[in-house]
Amino acid sequence: MRYFSTRDRGDEKRFFSLKEAATKGLAHDGGLFMPEHIPAAEMKVVEDLYKKSYSEMALYLAGLFFGDDVEAQRLKTTVERAYDFPIKMKSIAEGMNTLELFHGPTFAFKDFGARFMGQMMGILNDNDEVTVLTATSGDTGSAVANGFYGVKGVKVVVLYPAGKISPLQEAQMTTLYGNIYPLKVNGTFDDCQRMVKAMFADEKMREEINITSANSINILRWIPQSFYYFYGWCAWKELTGKELPYIVVPSGNYGNLTAGMLARRMGLPVKGFVAASNANDVIPEFLKSAEYRPRASVQTVANAMDVGAPSNYERMMCLCGNDIEKLRMEMRGFSANDDEIVAAIKEMHEKYDYQSCPHSAVGYAAAKELDVDGFWLSTACAAKFGEVTERAIGKKPKLPENIGELLSRKRVFTEISAEENELKKYLLQV
Ligand SMILES: *Cc1c(COP(=O)(O)O)cnc(C)c1O
Repeated sequence: MRYFSTRDRGDEKRFFSLKEAATKGLAHDGGLFMPEHIPAAEMKVVEDLYKKSYSEMALYLAGLFFGDDVEAQRLKTTVERAYDFPIKMKSIAEGMNTLELFHGPTFAFKDFGARFMGQMMGILNDNDEVTVLTATSGDTGSAVANGFYGVKGVKVVVLYPAGKISPLQEAQMTTLYGNIYPLKVNGTFDDCQRMVKAMFADEKMREEINITSANSINILRWIPQSFYYFYGWCAWKELTGKELPYIVVPSGNYGNLTAGMLARRMGLPVKGFVAASNANDVIPEFLKSAEYRPRASVQTVANAMDVGAPSNYERMMCLCGNDIEKLRMEMRGFSANDDEIVAAIKEMHEKYDYQSCPHSAVGYAAAKELDVDGFWLSTACAAKFGEVTERAIGKKPKLPENIGELLSRKRVFTEISAEENELKKYLLQV
C-alpha cells in the first residue's frame, strides 16, 4: 500500500511507502497521509473473528492495509503484543450502551493507536537507531511511552510541563525506565512544543541524530483506530440484534472520528456519527454553518479534547470528497459546556451507578440529547481525570483494576529548563 497527502490534488499525486509515511508523520506539503485506496472488509469474516478475540479480528483488518509491507508472522506478533488488553461493550441502562476503550495500560483509547505504531516501527526500522521525540500535556506522552516501551532500536524522549500533568500521567511516563527518557520541563506545554519543533527544524541536529515524531496524526496510529469500530459494531449487534448503529465520538483533534469514517468506507454498516465536542466546537459549528473557522482553543474540564484547529479536518474532507453535504449526511454535531459535562458525570453516577471521565461524558450527553440508537465511545477511565470526576460525584473514582504498582514505583526523570539548547545537549548525550 502506498500513501498520499491530503493536500495533493489531481493527476500529479505523489506516493510514499509505508515506511516513509510513518517516519515523516506529516507530509512534505503539510498535509496528512491517506492510504492510496481503502480496502474492503468482509463483514462475515469480521464477525467470525470477533467471537475469537480482538487481536484476531484486528489482524485480519491490519492485513488488508499492511499485508504487502509486513510479513504475515511479524504482523501477527505486532497485533498480539499491541492488543493484550480487554475492550468492553457496556450497557449502563436499557438502550444506553458504550464501548469502553480504556482498559489498556494507560487507561485511554490512545493505547490502540500508540501500541500498534510502537510495534510496527520496531519492524520498519529494522537496523536503524531512532529517537522518538514528543511533547505532551499528558495523555499522548503516556500512550507513546508505553507503546514504544522495549521496542528495539528506539529511544523515546518525552517532554512534559512540570506540575501541569496529573500524578497518574506522570507515573505512567516515569516508571517504565528502559528506553523511555522523560524530561520534566520547567515551563508550559507550549514551551515543550516549541522546543520539540525547534529540534525538527534544526538541520544540523537532524544530521547528528535520527529523530521522528509519534504524533497522533501518524498513519500508524490512525489506521488501527478504525479496527475497534468493527468490534463495537459486532458487540452492539450481539447485544441488541440490530445492525445499523449511530456511533457517538467524543472528539478533539478528530483522529478517532475520522478513523470511524474510514471503517465505514471499508464496509462497516454505520447509520451515522455524532461529532461530540466540548466548548471547542469548531466541527459542530462547521456542520451547521458550512464555514470552517479554526481558532485558539479554550480550556475545559475535558482537556484532552481542547483543540481549536483540529488537524484531522483535512482527512475528514478528503474522505467525503470535499463535499460538506456528503459530510452532513454522515455526521451530526453536538457540543457540551463544562457545566453540562459535570452534570452528565453526576447523572450517570446517580442514576446508573456508573463512573465516567469528562470526555466520555460528552459522548453520553450527546447520545441522550440526540436520542441515538447506537453507542458512544468511552475514551478514558474516570480515575485518569480523577479531579473532575471527584468534583462531580463527591468521591474519588475507583482506580482501574490493572493499575498494579504504578503509583508506588520510583519515578525517574531528568529536569531541564525550557531552553532549546538544553534539549539539544541532552539529545546528543543520551
Ligand atoms: C485524545 C483524547 C480525545 C480526543 O480524541 P481525538 O482523536 O483527538 O478526537 C478524547 N478523549 C481522550 C481521553 C483523549 O485522550
